[in-house]
Amino acid sequence: MILDQATLVTVASAITGLLGIFMLMLWVQERGIRALAWWGGAYLMGATAVTLWGAQGAAVLVSPEIPNAFLFVSCGMIWSGARLFHGRPVLPGALFAGATAWVAVMQSPDFAQSGHARLIVSAVLIAFYAFLTAFELRRERRRTVGQKQGTAATELVARLLRIGVPMLHSAVFLAPVGLILLAPMAVSADGLFALFAFETILYVVGTAFIVLVVANERVTHVHKTAAMTDLLTGLFNRRAFLDAANRIIESRGRKSLPVSVLLFDLDKFKLINDRFGHAVGDDALKVFAATAAGNLRSTDVIGRIGGEEFACIIPGAAQDAALVAERLRAAFEADGVVIAGHELHATVSIGVAVAIPPVAIDPLLARADAALYLAKNNGRNRVEFDQGDTPKPKAATQLADKRSQTAAELRSARPSVSAAPFAASFAD
Ligand code: GH3
Ligand code: MG
Ligand code: MG
Repeated sequence: MILDQATLVTVASAITGLLGIFMLMLWVQERGIRALAWWGGAYLMGATAVTLWGAQGAAVLVSPEIPNAFLFVSCGMIWSGARLFHGRPVLPGALFAGATAWVAVMQSPDFAQSGHARLIVSAVLIAFYAFLTAFELRRERRRTVGQKQGTAATELVARLLRIGVPMLHSAVFLAPVGLILLAPMAVSADGLFALFAFETILYVVGTAFIVLVVANERVTHVHKTAAMTDLLTGLFNRRAFLDAANRIIESRGRKSLPVSVLLFDLDKFKLINDRFGHAVGDDALKVFAATAAGNLRSTDVIGRIGGEEFACIIPGAAQDAALVAERLRAAFEADGVVIAGHELHATVSIGVAVAIPPVAIDPLLARADAALYLAKNNGRNRVEFDQGDTPKPKAATQLADKRSQTAAELRSARPSVSAAPFAASFAD
């Protein structure tokens, strides 16, 4: 089969240019994904480079180093887009390094006149940027707890494609370099040019497909995350918490291991709102969320399940739950003293229920709620276990006693006169 160079060049630049416009249009719709703009720009730059190649033969005056310089900037932009996509900064020096090196070596007449030398340097630069792109795209997106991902097989295929396509491009450009070095006479630059042009068409279509897949994944991820998040606190919302809790219960159930549910309700919160205003109440909710998030382990999942109610599921038994609950209670007692410049002395009551799955999340929450009711009745700012549970662990009892001591000490140590009437109104 004879591949006509002029036809190949025209087809390559038309396809690349169209795909570039297509990516820029996608970027206009999804402005959050800046990488799309870089990839679109890179494709247009690549299309320009190929068009200039074609123009070199015609009467148009194009300095011989320009088309390839454009091409290497385009390769650098594709790599930069992949970096941006993974939240890493663009490196302008490295982006323009290929083009700069090319312009520099082209100043040597010996180099500029040697077809093989030009081919080797071009192929190495293209292969190098393709390798960098593959390296960048191999990065796995971080998983979010509670977010369902694709099956292992589809993820593997997507990953192989992301790495495989640029690596193949790299290999196609590097293979003839060895051939040129071993048997220079056997290699026709024209033949190679046709091969490169043909492979480049496949490459631009392949990468455009990958871009579409990863951008779509990203958009879906962003929307899913927004649908799962509580706007005020940034924690999981009720639905996301229930989903994550069910998954934890299921996985613990497979090994017959216990789970604990902690239900939190801020104490006398209505009073905080009434006295200091809704905005300060909101600040108190944010402080609680931050305190909770800072005192949990990565395996624990917390969510805001109602106005001033939060729930947490931990993969552990009563002893673990007692430690976590007490740590959180004490931390919020300390962080809640002054919020947004006001002496709130905000506290939280916690109800805990423990079970070995199979168990549904709703009855577990109901049991934790019963324990929470006890905590409120027993004076607030305390942890209580569901009475229907396995007996309260010794450690928890000791902790609770220690806590009462600490709280009593704290209360007696509170010197604030201005807070006194408000604190007094907290008493039952
Ligand atoms: P207790 O110690 O018995 O829990 O008393 P409480 O006042 O906290 O209980 P209650 O359930 O009566 O009050 C909850 C209050 O939480 C009522 C509601 O106005 C307030 N609230 C619910 N959601 C929000 C919110 O998003 N922001 C603010 N600032 N307040 C909220
Ligand atoms: Mg409440
Ligand atoms: Mg409350």
